[in-house]
Amino acid sequence: MAPSSDMETFGKVLASSKSLAILAGAGLSAASGIPTYRGAGGLWRTHDAMSLATPEAFEDNPSLVWKFYHERREKAITALPNAAHKALASLYLPMTLSRVAPSLDPSECPNPLFITQNVDSLSLRVLSESSLNLPEAIQAIARESLLEMHGSLFRLRCTECERDYRDYSSPLSEILAEATERHSESGEDVEVPVDKLPRCGDGHPDSCGGLLRPGVVWFGEVPEHLDQISNKLDHCDLLLIVGTSSTVYPAAGFADIVKGKGGKTAVFNLERSSGDRRADFLFIGPCEETLPQALGIAV
Ligand SMILES: [Zn+2]
Repeated sequence: MAPSSDMETFGKVLASSKSLAILAGAGLSAASGIPTYRGAGGLWRTHDAMSLATPEAFEDNPSLVWKFYHERREKAITALPNAAHKALASLYLPMTLSRVAPSLDPSECPNPLFITQNVDSLSLRVLSESSLNLPEAIQAIARESLLEMHGSLFRLRCTECERDYRDYSSPLSEILAEATERHSESGEDVEVPVDKLPRCGDGHPDSCGGLLRPGVVWFGEVPEHLDQISNKLDHCDLLLIVGTSSTVYPAAGFADIVKGKGGKTAVFNLERSSGDRRADFLFIGPCEETLPQALGIAV
């Protein structure tokens, strides 16, 4: 059966859901101006961006990989959350949740689990946005329900002592900012010596001084929170797939789990993909428009 794009029917299914999960991908942040890996432009056009996002690339040339991430980090820090981020964040307000999805089972964690593949942390930053007015306690619940399965550009991990922390400073490092800018202007691969790259302890006196790496999950590494995700998906009866093709891992695998247990899936994406015909609902268009509308949340 072809997927339905009827908002009213979707609203009824959402209202009867007992366990809800959301999976977001790059399309969620497109309207915020965050380019995808493949869309990375500028000085990185001559590099295969995928080849920079590996542990081996970092070992070979940490300076080049850091410049790549420094630029992405600076882009993400100036980006603003869009209406789709806001609509999803609003779901955590008890008043909104009890209107939109009143049947969620209070005996288990009633809040939707929000899994994102994005590393821009916009779904986290939006929680404290003043226009949303989310009380501190609600922000804490929403933060706990948000799983950044591919890590974050704003996390730093020490390659020596495993220290892992968040840092939103901009720029992260003057030397790195300068080298990235020169690289961008002249195409010259200005190498930052490894002892001048971000180090464990910069601003944190109790740390070891080891080389820091971006706290993102690279190709060949295992995504984070997989246990928690599979526990929830095991009894999830409605999965919203936002801004990502439902044919590619992990969306395809997550949809299989939910469908296998008799649950339903709803895809919100800019374009069709071949696996969409297995979805129960399909809303084609910019998710910052379709999502607030389907959830009945004005932002
Ligand atoms: Zn360390």
